[in-house]
Amino acid sequence: MAIVVLGNGALDTARRIQARLPGSRVHGLARRVSADVAYGEFGAHVRELYSMNTPIVALCSAGIVIRALASRLADKAAEPPVLAVAQDGSAVVPLLGGMSRANVLAREIGGALGIAPAITTSGELRFGQCLLAPPEGYALADIERGKRFVSDLLSGETTRIEGRAPWLDDAALPRADDARLAVRITPFAASDEDSLVIHPRCVLAWIEDVSSGDDITERVRVAMRERGLAPPALAVLTAPARYMSSESLPDAARALDVPLRFCDAAPFDADHVRGVALHVADAPLDAQSIGRARGALTVIGLGPGSAELMTPAARDALIAAQDVLGYETYLRMAVPFRDDQRVHMTDNREELQRARHAFELASAGRRVVVVSSGDPGVFAMAAAVLEAFDEGRTAHPEWSAVKLAAVPGVSASLATAARAGAPLGHDFCLLSLSDNLKPWSVIEKRVAHAGEADLVMAFYNPLSKARPWQFDRAIGIVRRYRDADTPVVLGRDIGRPGEALRIVTLGELKSELVDMRTMVIVGSSTTRIVGNWVYTPRWYE
Ligand code: SAH
Repeated sequence: MAIVVLGNGALDTARRIQARLPGSRVHGLARRVSADVAYGEFGAHVRELYSMNTPIVALCSAGIVIRALASRLADKAAEPPVLAVAQDGSAVVPLLGGMSRANVLAREIGGALGIAPAITTSGELRFGQCLLAPPEGYALADIERGKRFVSDLLSGETTRIEGRAPWLDDAALPRADDARLAVRITPFAASDEDSLVIHPRCVLAWIEDVSSGDDITERVRVAMRERGLAPPALAVLTAPARYMSSESLPDAARALDVPLRFCDAAPFDADHVRGVALHVADAPLDAQSIGRARGALTVIGLGPGSAELMTPAARDALIAAQDVLGYETYLRMAVPFRDDQRVHMTDNREELQRARHAFELASAGRRVVVVSSGDPGVFAMAAAVLEAFDEGRTAHPEWSAVKLAAVPGVSASLATAARAGAPLGHDFCLLSLSDNLKPWSVIEKRVAHAGEADLVMAFYNPLSKARPWQFDRAIGIVRRYRDADTPVVLGRDIGRPGEALRIVTLGELKSELVDMRTMVIVGSSTTRIVGNWVYTPRWYE
């Protein structure tokens, strides 16, 4: 779902709506506002979203949206819900997609903003809405059939209700026990013309055993068909916890479009047919309350600071996260968090402890994201997470079932290099000058070897209050191998507010010019300055 804003004035309202709609993103006009997704031109962007069938909530006048989409309206292939919301949150108007979810969405947004939605579709106002957009836990069998059913009712027919449909209790439906038409709430496939069929998602599938290369999706489909159950009635796929790291189960859950949960034993007694057991409950099932999910632990890099240097993959991981762990300063820069996300702020020094905590949360079934600045694999949390795993996995066998992943980010050296030109254009090395986790003698030796090898050197963690003299010592070693006029790039807070880039020479470099927020890149013998740029040519003699 895309919440589209044109400027900062609408951002507050957009975030309030976003908090109500899980998985939605705020799209902002790049030159005016910084949001989750940037776009260049309103009309083109909205048309693209529309053709991809993405629901659109546009925070601008209805007229702007209508004019933007006018040329696409004849295209009936896609009609996602499209809504206009007043920037200040005082009005919400469903414009298109009335038969899909526009009115439901309008009520939802109205609820978030404390206003009444401007519903204008008459048939739906009478009874279409509650019939064709059943609540969560139910699925309409056939929308075209549904539209005909609603027009039959509008033209004077009556209907019976077969099965349990609590949300219809208060609906103003023209009911009659002897009606020809019927609303049927059933998990079984049905195709008679006189019924509006709605399937409760009440079927649980239990996969008793998983062998590699076996087609679980097909097994479940066949089992459902043999029992006469309609595919949309499937609510959840479950399997024994020992299969948590199987790849075929998540694939099947995705193909069947249902959540996957793991249990220690079958959650009910049932006969297995070809390793699949089906259980039909008498009401929709809440998958979240059955067993547990396979937990996930994803280590991401935010990039140096600004939103546009964060990769879309890192942003997706943050949006999907249930728990987010990281150093407070970085987290605040990351994104606005939703109410349903737990954010665990910690001190920068407690890295191993944070990694263990992340494994504990993930092995309880949570989707956990651990955040680093820059790239997570460069002097950061990805290594800490693997150290914790290495050390803890024997004592905690459940950690091995966690789905572990790392998402790369733009590291400070790369961001700084790009601002300066191409100082890393030839062979280079990345060194941390922090002697917290390694002896100073090792650092001296590596700096000397890098100097001798004529590598460009990018120094992370150059200096801190607790390490005041180390930087000058390291630079003293570099001077043995490099001329005083060697270019040096100093990037401070690159990609953050107050970003500063300085080009100096090795002769001018001193510790007063750097701090913990500075990236230091010392050139090789071939690094050159041209105009405002620093670069290291690709060739070498
Ligand atoms: N994982 C991070 C590095 C963590 S070490 C990355 O890949 O960028 C922290 C050091 O990185 C800081 O002491 C500083 O030297 C450098 N650094 C991190 N962010 C920076 C930024 N925005 N601008 C300049 N240097 C930065």
